[in-house]
Formats: sequence, structure tokens, C-alpha cells
Amino acid sequence: MSNNTGPLKQRLATYGIYAKKGLGQNFLHDRSYVRQIVEAAELAPGDVVVEIGPGPATLTYDLAEAVRPGGKVVAVEVDERLQKLLGDVQQQCPEVTVLWQDALQVDYGAVTAPYRTGDTFALVANLPYYITTPILMHLLEGNFPVSHLVLMVQKEVAERILASPGTKNYGALSVAVQYRCRGRMVAIVPPGAFVPAPKVSSAVIRLDRRAEPAVTVQNEAVFFRVVAAAFQQRRKTLLNALGVLAGDRTKETLHNQLHACGIDPVRRGETLTLEEFARVADLFV
Ligand code: SAM
Repeated sequence: MSNNTGPLKQRLATYGIYAKKGLGQNFLHDRSYVRQIVEAAELAPGDVVVEIGPGPATLTYDLAEAVRPGGKVVAVEVDERLQKLLGDVQQQCPEVTVLWQDALQVDYGAVTAPYRTGDTFALVANLPYYITTPILMHLLEGNFPVSHLVLMVQKEVAERILASPGTKNYGALSVAVQYRCRGRMVAIVPPGAFVPAPKVSSAVIRLDRRAEPAVTVQNEAVFFRVVAAAFQQRRKTLLNALGVLAGDRTKETLHNQLHACGIDPVRRGETLTLEEFARVADLFV
């Protein structure tokens, strides 16, 4: 049983906390989604889990319970008004450690190292929506030893992350995440599950970090430059969109090179799979 059974509003009132919009504070109060998030994280006793933005600790109690005994919850929170509340949580759950830091600045490998017996850690967060993409990219590009992430994000962002080639939601974010992770939708969450209710729907996704990137490329930076150029002007053909990277190559040369690697130059970038992007990127190395 979780200790965190008191109604969220009462809890916030007890500690004099009001939600700050600027910090993306929409607090989850619907326990059914708390359960789904913790279940999706598949934590076991002894595991180390990082939680970004514990806020009033709604998820934190359940995460602590899931890794007990012997595990650790490393919670990263920027709002120091929560010190008393999270201090009291730590009294009840000694497996919780709070880092008072901006989640974008944290070296997650280093902060989990003292607690890890295995190589990896899990990460669970109801993310502050105003910095979802920068946090996600910091987590993935930082090459931290994270095995999997269970994240609450805006539904529209979840759809972009998980989108398939040729769909309207497929873009540079889909490629960046799918290059490093396998993803799946866990749950769609209505605004009413939060206090205060956000204007948009949310979704919980799970991302499993791949041992190796989804495709092999000669140069990762070039791969992402090609992806960025292809999606910069979505309505352009690949041939025209890649013009910015062509250097002194003529259009005809680029046309022939795309053909030679099996890509029709008049296709739009948004239709390319990761494997096709990798083939195109290698033309620019
Ligand atoms: N985990 C709680 C829940 O599920 O109800 C709170 C989630 S709320 C959407 C986002 C949390 O992230 C807030 O507690 C907020 O203070 C925190 N936060 C906002 N910006 C942050 C940052 N840059 N670094 C760390 N935490 C941040």
C-alpha cells in the first residue's frame, strides 16, 4: 500500500504549495495513471530509478515502494518551495534522495553511480512540458547508462516521438528518439487527471534504450544534419531540401547519387525510414 493516500489538494495546502505554471506544474492526482506509470517501469527490489520533477511526490512514494528493499530513487527537483514536503517524504522513505538541480544540468550517470550495483538505471518522469524536448535530448545525447524511460509528455509530443515514416507527425524528433530507443505508447491521459488541469491531453510512453543505434552511420553529426535539412521544409523534394548541404556538387550529381543509393530524389524527406536516412547521410561524409 502507498502512504500517499491523502487527496493531493489537501497535501498541497498543508505545505502551502500552489502550482507554478512557469515550472510546468500540473500535478497528477489520478491514482490509476500512477499505477500504470509504475507498472510500465517494471522496477524490481534493488533497482535505481531517477525521477525528474517529483513535485508533491505522488509518483515518488510508489517508485520507492517498487525498488524496496535495497533500491534507490534519485529525485531531481528545481522548485525549492518543495523542500519541507520532500524532506518529510525522505523521512518515510529512506530510499529517496533529492537533488535540488535543474534536470538539464544533471550528469545522470554520475549521480546514480554511488547507488548502482548493476550497470544501468531506469528513469520515470511526469515531465514539465515547457522543457520536454531539451530534457529528452539531454537524456539521450548524454549517453547516460539509462536502460529505459517511462515519461508523461503532451499527447501531441508522444505522437511525434512514436510516429512512423510518411505520417504527418513524423519529424526530426521521431528520428532522433527512434535512432536511440524503441518506443511504445502506454496510456493516453486526459487533462482531468491533473491539478490544475492542463489545456492539452497527455500520454505516457515507454522508451527502451537500444544497445546500438537503430542504423549504422559513418558520422552521426552528418546524419542529424541531413535529417534536419530534410524536415526543415517538409514540402520540398529531398533533392531540393538537401541543396543546402550539397557544397560544390551540382544538382545533377546529387540527383544521380540519390538514385545510386536507391532513393528517388523527388521523394519528400518525411517519407524516409531511418535506414534510408542513413544511406543518404553517408553520401555527405
Ligand atoms: N511528479 C509530479 C507529479 O507527477 O504530479 C510533478 C510533475 S510536474 C508536471 C513537473 C515537475 O517538474 C514539477 O515538480 C516542477 O517543479 C519540476 N520541474 C520543472 N522544471 C524543472 C527542471 N528544470 N528541473 C527539475 N525539475 C523541474
